[in-house]
Amino acid sequence: FEPAKYIEDLQGHWAAEGGNASYALLTRCFVLVNSTQSRIKIVDTLVNLLRVIIEGDPSSLLPTVWLATNAISPPYISLELGLGGSAISKALKNVCGLDSKSLKALYDKVGDAGDVAFEAKKKQSFTLRKPKPLTIQGVYQSLVKIASTQGTGSGEIKQRIVDRLLQDARGAEESRYVVRTLCQHLRIGAVKTTMLIALSRAFLLSRPPGADFPLKSRAELAGLKKEALAEVWSKAEEVVKACFAKRPNYNDLIPVLLEIGVCDELLVRCGLALHIPLRPMLGSITRDLSEMLTKLQGRDFSCEYKYDGQRAQVHCDSEGKVSIFSRHLELMTDKYPDLVAIIPKIRGDGVSSFIMEGEVVAVDQESGDLKTFQTLANRARKDVAIGSVKVNVCMFAFDLMYLNGEPLLDRPFRERRELLRSLFTEVPNQFTWVKSIDATSQDSETVLEFFKSATDVKCEGIMVKILDNLPNTKLTDEPDENPEIKEAAPEPRAKASKGKKKANSKASEKEPEKKTRRKALLSTYEPDKRLDSWLKVKKDYSTTFDTLDLIPIAGWHGQGRKSKWWSPILLAVRNEETGSLEAVCKCISGFTDTFYKANKEFYEEGGEHVLGGKPSYVDYEGGHPDVWFEPQEVWEMAFADITLSPVYTAAIGLVSDERGLSLRFPRFLKKRDDKSIDEASTSEFLAGLWRKQEEKAPGAVKEVKDE
Ligand code: ATP
Repeated sequence: FEPAKYIEDLQGHWAAEGGNASYALLTRCFVLVNSTQSRIKIVDTLVNLLRVIIEGDPSSLLPTVWLATNAISPPYISLELGLGGSAISKALKNVCGLDSKSLKALYDKVGDAGDVAFEAKKKQSFTLRKPKPLTIQGVYQSLVKIASTQGTGSGEIKQRIVDRLLQDARGAEESRYVVRTLCQHLRIGAVKTTMLIALSRAFLLSRPPGADFPLKSRAELAGLKKEALAEVWSKAEEVVKACFAKRPNYNDLIPVLLEIGVCDELLVRCGLALHIPLRPMLGSITRDLSEMLTKLQGRDFSCEYKYDGQRAQVHCDSEGKVSIFSRHLELMTDKYPDLVAIIPKIRGDGVSSFIMEGEVVAVDQESGDLKTFQTLANRARKDVAIGSVKVNVCMFAFDLMYLNGEPLLDRPFRERRELLRSLFTEVPNQFTWVKSIDATSQDSETVLEFFKSATDVKCEGIMVKILDNLPNTKLTDEPDENPEIKEAAPEPRAKASKGKKKANSKASEKEPEKKTRRKALLSTYEPDKRLDSWLKVKKDYSTTFDTLDLIPIAGWHGQGRKSKWWSPILLAVRNEETGSLEAVCKCISGFTDTFYKANKEFYEEGGEHVLGGKPSYVDYEGGHPDVWFEPQEVWEMAFADITLSPVYTAAIGLVSDERGLSLRFPRFLKKRDDKSIDEASTSEFLAGLWRKQEEKAPGAVKEVKDE
């Protein structure tokens, strides 16, 4: 995981020939994507770009994908650009001849650094030297160079690279996207979320010169009915997504795609691998035990304590090398040397290599009593010397995904758990199994007792997991005789009125209907999926309503006692399809004075975390906040109900043509430092909660104007 090694490996992908695809091409794609609200057009634009590159300059495909997804390496290779806002400002001054005052005026006017670069470049009347047209590879290599330059003098070297990129950017649009890329805020979320879909389609239609994998011809596709066409797309999409869930690194995926295209062999060539984290399986929320018991009727399941710690994916190879990854796929081996040290003790005789998962929890070393998540959070982040560990931890293992060279993902959970518990050894207060009981829906009292015992020892609640597949359940997409598999009716979705709000048109537009089938709940490990085969029941849910993870986006000057702080604060959900943030409520409750103070300091007027005005990617027409925050935090919020609202735009077009959704009595619970804004609740999720609420008590919650 050495950055230097990563860069060396990357060189192999940069062909001696080719590599000339211009950055202008990528910029054009960004501009087109940004100018449309149509999801179909976004996907098509991206597919067209990828096809041009695949056929014309395949060696530029990998950098294209990294740049379009606004990253330079997978999360587990920590390669940070580490550029402060000042480097960008300096470059704008150096290259565009702006003084500090006019630069500040521009920031105040447009807010986003990329938009500042756009305006500045438009006004630029001279060039210091003849620009050399930027290529996609060149820009990507510059980023990698910036990230890998360290030590004395690195500041100047980085500045020179930034200056040169801005000098060579032709025109205002290229400058905008170069700067947004340098700030790591591309502001085109839709490109990131559709990349795998676009790749799967592009490789059905195009191949690089010299490759001979079969393609779908235009005539063949044109002859297909809507549903058959959707089937072709979705099959390819599933394969590519499955690969990326098991091995989330474009450096592995793209070269194999270029060689063999989208086919089943891709799953073999790009499967699970030691020391590369797979994307974890996630649990679906249930409101309470009774909803969980209803959902799992007729099935055997395991109830496990839901510990409040940090998820850990532990990889160990036959040489004994250990890697530990976080839920977000970051490498954290250095954080847990004590865990690394016990691996030889837990590994039984028959085990050579494995990937296992568990929750790492702070515990009292003597008694083994669980401590809070806050205690664990106080543990140093990195490079903890084993003798200086102050917060003791225990790993509560709950799954085994790989053993002795063989992936176990397709095995039923009961079997994976049996292997885990029989082949590994517990170490008191350092390594053990999650506490669990096996049950069925008939055992409601036992389950309730177990739930209570979990919350008594400070667990968040329980995780409930299906133990076995139903007999004859097929793991493939072949037609199935199983009675539990039914054609599911498409989710009802209100049609949005044309040209209404920005989010409307995109949300209402549909691709050819995908044939969705409700499959029997499987007990297999499904990377990157949130399915009902893993359910979570939290103690919070049993007393209150669901919570939402929202993004604070703006604030007003408080009144009276709160006049020194921001209050109320405007919060938003994320529209996954458009990449925009949709305002959902203002909040004034749940904050302490200490919180208000810290919040005001963080979002200080004129400071680096606030914007000069309302950003284009925010959807809110309900007023004029005094300050717009740079979206970067996720706050967990409780609330009484969800209401239709004429003011807020969240989920507009999903439940009503004209109305968005808002929250009544929103209350701040806690910051979710473990979540990035890409993981905040989506408008789809909010709409789902609203539908659930309506099913329970239709029309009970009336529309409100503004809470
Ligand atoms: P949450 O808001 O509950 O933390 P999340 O989105 O972070 O949700 P979920 O998949 O929804 O993640 O909840 C599962 C998380 O609970 C896991 O990521 C893991 O860290 C933790 N956990 C604790 N105990 C268990 C267990 N026995 N099995 C699985 N996950 C567990």
